[in-house]
This record gives sequence, structure tokens and C-alpha cells, in this order.
Amino acid sequence: MTNAPVRIRSVLKDGKVIPPTGCEVIVADHCNIACRQCNHGAPALRKWNAAPQDLARDLRLLARHYRPAFLKYIGGEPLLNPDLPAILCAGREARLCDHHLLVTNGMLLERMTEEVWSLIDELEVSVYPATGVTEQTLAPHRVSAARHGVRFTVNHFPEFRRTFTRQHNDDDALVERVFRGCKAINVWGCHTLYQGALYRCPQSAYALTLAGAEGFDGFVMQERPDFAEQLLTFLNGREPLAACRYCVGTAGRKEAHQIMKRADWIADLDSSAQDALDPGLLAENVVNVVTLDDCKTPDHHLRRSVLKRIIGKLGIRPTRIRKARSRRVDDL
Ligand code: SF4
Repeated sequence: MTNAPVRIRSVLKDGKVIPPTGCEVIVADHCNIACRQCNHGAPALRKWNAAPQDLARDLRLLARHYRPAFLKYIGGEPLLNPDLPAILCAGREARLCDHHLLVTNGMLLERMTEEVWSLIDELEVSVYPATGVTEQTLAPHRVSAARHGVRFTVNHFPEFRRTFTRQHNDDDALVERVFRGCKAINVWGCHTLYQGALYRCPQSAYALTLAGAEGFDGFVMQERPDFAEQLLTFLNGREPLAACRYCVGTAGRKEAHQIMKRADWIADLDSSAQDALDPGLLAENVVNVVTLDDCKTPDHHLRRSVLKRIIGKLGIRPTRIRKARSRRVDDL
């Protein structure tokens, strides 16, 4: 099919499911800020911290059948979980992968203890406007990262796309198109371990709860004789999820980033899927699912564009800039 979008699928190798990229591990539901359209639903969720012993059990089970390229510890805000060191230890001891990446909004970095630094390979800071996180506030933490041999990654998010709706989308054809064009499931492979189940995308862990709707899109972490085969079938399913009725995937309208009052956050989801969508982007994604996240600007891209602007102002003829062809997931 020439018009089919690129689909990155999990495969079975040596008895283990190999996903396209890595797996998110939800460490906390709550967050210290309330970003409009947070695609983990944090502003509407109650305080909840993952328990290390529960995650250890799920990760040990997964490790027998699943081999992601990395584990990404995320929330909510992971640094709000007081058991974060024990969770990171559990992740390392499970031996699912060799790369452990912690994601934070950068506002609570003083909570990064020596122990936490020693348990991660990469710290990824998501910088949002109006949070007070700047290159100056990050500078001492860059030094700590270097001292521990931890990669320090900064991504800027000046804009968000709408994701969730609390209105049931009963247009079957539209739900199908949203699913087919969804980069989260077709390109990025954002598997998510959350409260005893593996999900194909973080949105499907939250959308039904946010909408107060029935249904469950997870794969329960329970040992069974054909675990790997069942997991593979689940991960590569070609039918839209129950959550796709309440989510516009990666084709939502783009809006400037905004920190909202929590009381207003949930009311903001009361527009229909049709209103939340960018129809042009959806049409494009269904045909050609590009891999770039156009709301995210990695710091090295920002530096490059600043450098190019300076070179332009000085009237210097820019030399050819070699584009890194890295397979790094934060560039997807
Ligand atoms: S719930 Fe459906 S539309 Fe939303 S991100 Fe997941 S697969 Fe995509």
C-alpha cells in the first residue's frame, strides 16, 4: 500500500518482545505544575506515587519477556516520589535494558541526590515557559551530571498540541484515522508501564479515566505460559484502542504552552475531537507519519539555530552544517 503510514512494530526475537524504542515507567501521577493538555493527565489526577516493590515485581516479570532500548522514568513529576532511588534500583536490578533515563520539568532539581545521579544514565529536562527554569538554574546540575557521567539533555516545549477530549467521539471513521495517523503508536512506540499493566501509549493509560468512561487498554502484568506471544499480539494490534475515542493522538491543534489552574484544566477537555483536531495535520499524518515532534525543540537544535542567526547577522557565509543522523529517541 503506497499510502500507508510508516508503522514501527514490535518483533519477537529469541523468545523476547523487542519494542521499537523504549518503555516509559510512570513513577508518580501528580505534578507541581499544571500544563494545559499535559498528555499524562497529571493536573487532573490525585497524588499517587508508584511503590518500589510493585514496580520491581512488574519489571522482573517484563524482563523475562521484553527488551526495550531504554527505560524512561516519568510522571507527573518523578522527583515528587520520595522512593525514587528505590525505584531506580529496581529498574537496574531487573536488567531489562542498559539505559535509564529520568525525565523532569527541571523545577525540583535540588532533590537530585548523589544516589539518584548514580542510578541514571541520562537526565532529560523538559523546559516549559514561565517555570523559571533557565540555563543559569540548570548550570550547577549540568556540572553534577558531568561529574557522574550522566548525559544531560534539555528539550524546550513552547507549544503543546491538544490531546484529550472528555466527549465521546462516535465518528468511527474519524477514530480510525486518528489511530492510523497517531505517531505515538505508529512511530514513537511509547509503551508505558503503569499500575500493574503495560500500555501501548501513555494517553491510553489516562484518557478513559479523564473522561470518566468505561474500558481498559492495558496488558496486565501477570505471568502466563505464552506471555511473549500475547504481548506481541497486544502491542501490534491494528484496531483503535478504547482510549482513541477520547484522544486525538498526535494530530491535535497546536497552542502556546500555558500553565493553568487545576480547576480549569479538566474543563479545557470539554471540546469535541473535531474541535481539538488539526484536520490538515491529520490528513498528512495518515499518509505519511513523520517522526519529528514539532512541539519539542532539543537544546542542541536551539543552539544551532541561534548560531545560524548570529552567522547570518555577521554576514558570514555559513559552511555546510552536517546533520546528525542519530537514532536518538529524543529527536523523534
Ligand atoms: S489513545 Fe489512541 S489516538 Fe491517543 S495516543 Fe494512544 S493510540 Fe494515539
